Amino acid sequence: MALTPMMQQYFTIKENYQDCILFYRLGDFYEMFFDDAELASKELELVLTGRDCGLEERAPMCGIPYHAASGYIGKLIQKGYKVAICEQVEDPKEAKGIVKRDVIKIITPGTFLDDNFLDKGSNNYIMAVTAGKDRYGLAFCDISTGEFQGTVIPLTSTALDNELSKFMPKEVVVSEDSTGDELAQRWKVLVNVRSVEEAVDSGNVQSYFKSFSGGYNGVVASACSLLLSYLEETQKTALSNLTHLEIYNTEDAMALDLNTRKNLELMENIVDKTRRGTLLWVLDESRTTMGARNLRRWMEAPLINRELIMRRLDAVDAIYSNLNLLEDLREALVGVYDIERIVSKIALKSVNPKEMITLRNSLSKLPAVKELLALVNYGELSRLHKKMDVLEDIHTLLDASIRTDAPMTMKEGEIIKDGYHREVDELRDIRHNGKRWIAELEQKEKEFTGIKSLKIGFNKVFGYYIEISKSNYSNIPEGRYVRKQTLANAERYITQELKEMEDKILGAEEKLNDLEYRLFAEIRDTIEVHVERLKNTARIIADIDCYQALAKVARDQGYVKPEFTGDGSIRIREGRHPVVEKMMQKGEFVSNDLTMDQKGESFLIITGPNMAGKSTYMRQTALICLMAQIGSFVPAKKAELSVCDRIFTRIGASDDLAGGKSTFMVEMSEVSDILLHATGQSLIILDEVGRGTSTYDGLSIAWAVIEYILKEIPGAKTLFATHYHELTALEGQLPGVKNYSVLVREVGKSIAFLRKIVPGGADESYGIEVARLAGLPKELLQRAKEILLRLEKKDHRTAEPVLEKPAKKGDLQLGLFDFEKESFLEKIQTLDVLNMTPMEAMMTLHQLHAEAKELN
Ligand code: ADP
Ligand code: MG
Repeated sequence: MALTPMMQQYFTIKENYQDCILFYRLGDFYEMFFDDAELASKELELVLTGRDCGLEERAPMCGIPYHAASGYIGKLIQKGYKVAICEQVEDPKEAKGIVKRDVIKIITPGTFLDDNFLDKGSNNYIMAVTAGKDRYGLAFCDISTGEFQGTVIPLTSTALDNELSKFMPKEVVVSEDSTGDELAQRWKVLVNVRSVEEAVDSGNVQSYFKSFSGGYNGVVASACSLLLSYLEETQKTALSNLTHLEIYNTEDAMALDLNTRKNLELMENIVDKTRRGTLLWVLDESRTTMGARNLRRWMEAPLINRELIMRRLDAVDAIYSNLNLLEDLREALVGVYDIERIVSKIALKSVNPKEMITLRNSLSKLPAVKELLALVNYGELSRLHKKMDVLEDIHTLLDASIRTDAPMTMKEGEIIKDGYHREVDELRDIRHNGKRWIAELEQKEKEFTGIKSLKIGFNKVFGYYIEISKSNYSNIPEGRYVRKQTLANAERYITQELKEMEDKILGAEEKLNDLEYRLFAEIRDTIEVHVERLKNTARIIADIDCYQALAKVARDQGYVKPEFTGDGSIRIREGRHPVVEKMMQKGEFVSNDLTMDQKGESFLIITGPNMAGKSTYMRQTALICLMAQIGSFVPAKKAELSVCDRIFTRIGASDDLAGGKSTFMVEMSEVSDILLHATGQSLIILDEVGRGTSTYDGLSIAWAVIEYILKEIPGAKTLFATHYHELTALEGQLPGVKNYSVLVREVGKSIAFLRKIVPGGADESYGIEVARLAGLPKELLQRAKEILLRLEKKDHRTAEPVLEKPAKKGDLQLGLFDFEKESFLEKIQTLDVLNMTPMEAMMTLHQLHAEAKELN
């Protein structure tokens, strides 16, 4: 048996699109066959049928109507599949044999353009990675907005993860399998492997973009060309919306590693990964989708250049201090839709008439925005005012040509405005008159035949007809009426005159639709020439929107403009946590001061019971520094800051809410990462580090980490929260260390949290009191107290006392000192001195020394 010609064609095409689900156009349907059909029927809940294909067994098949395709495609893309759209590429009337078909576009998660599925407030990136000898080249593109960026990073998976965590690409193109496997595993992202040799050569990269920032060569050039060639492969059209290549340097922005982003909950919260309870949730008062995306970009790469930071802060200040300006700007920005994404669609020729009207409406808002900027005659806003092109010519063109009620479809007319094009007007006239002629003809035929119920109708298959009901058959004029169709109770006829009219009317309709489509394409292509201008204006709007958003938040939340001293210190008066504060009732959050510098107070050890507010205090410090470097005002009464080159945040393993995969090993490798990369200008937050292992282990490591940072990374500002109150002994011993604790008040037998940070260490951890608050049974708490007392007398590692019977009263009154001394001696006796490394020996000695000092 042999395959049918259609199936042969199917297989020939499918051969080249193995990694896609092939949508094969048959009439008004897209059909899927074989494995594709089985997969799609499952994923889309479609009925699986079969089709004769010339083989013994029928081909499994399922299909969807083409006009409903976008919803189905969206679902498949969201599930991480790629869809290849195969259309008829010749006119069936002219085809000899089977109509030629080919894939006209591949839709993929990283190149998706459907507004119904894309998140408006965030970018949709695709990334390419190429590995050089000692570095990775990376390229990122959001085809829906036309952004294209590239960079080089060290050849390590940490560096790769850090950039990925910033862009969160939906799809990756790699030049070799190993990197691809690694990424697919770690990031659960769709990976395509393509060889670099086949990619567009780098000369082509040069010809692609009209402007460049930053030099590119070698490994970044090959990443860019790899990405470009993949985009061409999928879009099958020139990508004229990619006008600018931005090569960035990871060192020009504050580097935030994956864990810091997660821990600080910048874009998504740790609990349910949504936006609620994140910094973005607090700051995003943007009015446009372009502004929303821009704010994310700012947050993803905080500035480290003081001048640039001040430029943004001054712009925010200018709007902040003029309430009218703020309100007017917010008003003016409301009707500005996503110019960036519409422009990309224009360039990719997928824009529809309705979107053009959206563009027109958005452009009509621009003069008002520009006028408002003129109110500020200095700094960044004044610069933007000068640079802002309100695109009047494009607005005028759209306003004159496209109907306000233009549809989303392109081939069914009703796009072009009356008066824009003479032939359109003429054809519309004929169509309009045609309706009148038909009405007149109907009247004439009624009179002629004397049949009152005679009517002229129209349907798509038979065209115009005269319908006469059964009871009137006898009155039908012989000869002139030609029968067309028989219904149960009526007959339908055509006459010569009606036929001629039909040709004219239908001809006009068809011509009109064709002409309107052609004119629309012309207008679109005229605008395409100005893609770069449109994109620049979109960028300016995005910036203005961010400035007003930050000004709005600053006013609503009572933030203050930070100052930058440049002496390496941080002084915050009455600082607050922007997110925790917003989650609470007004006035409920307790503000706290903070002073750090690079010498006497560079390392704060913060102790205090569980739930006291240690983590909150440290994070609010990190967030205040980060917000300031984005260009935002900060939640405080006064903030004098210094630019941080990096912010690190680590959370002890058992405190890691993300949980599951976190182990002590992970915790330690994260700490090692900090020690490797932090500088004297960095801010380091260590929250309960060392917690993931046994007490002495953890304590020793924490201790050694503190010493190491002070010695090897002088100047680094560190906040270290710990429940090892033994560490408070370091104040006075190690220069730079200062103890702070969170105030709690003992109220009767319980404690009250005051949330106030005060100098000095806590000497108790109050764990049992917190357990009481949590409602543990009284007997249990009593027993825990007894055990605690015993443990404090003995070596912490001895589990023995826990197994004993409850102690008698007398036991508890034994001299504490004797027990401590005893256990100290025991500790020395049991040391395995011969098996210690010199480092361990040093640390042990250090510790014993400190303990010995406490004993006398
Ligand atoms: P710790 O790290 O000391 O265990 P957290 O920082 O996690 O404590 O704080 C515990 C809870 O206390 C927070 O979830 C928050 O609701 C509340 N809290 C913390 N700091 C403050 C504050 N300054 N004002 C009001 N409530 C606070
Ligand atoms: Mg904590």
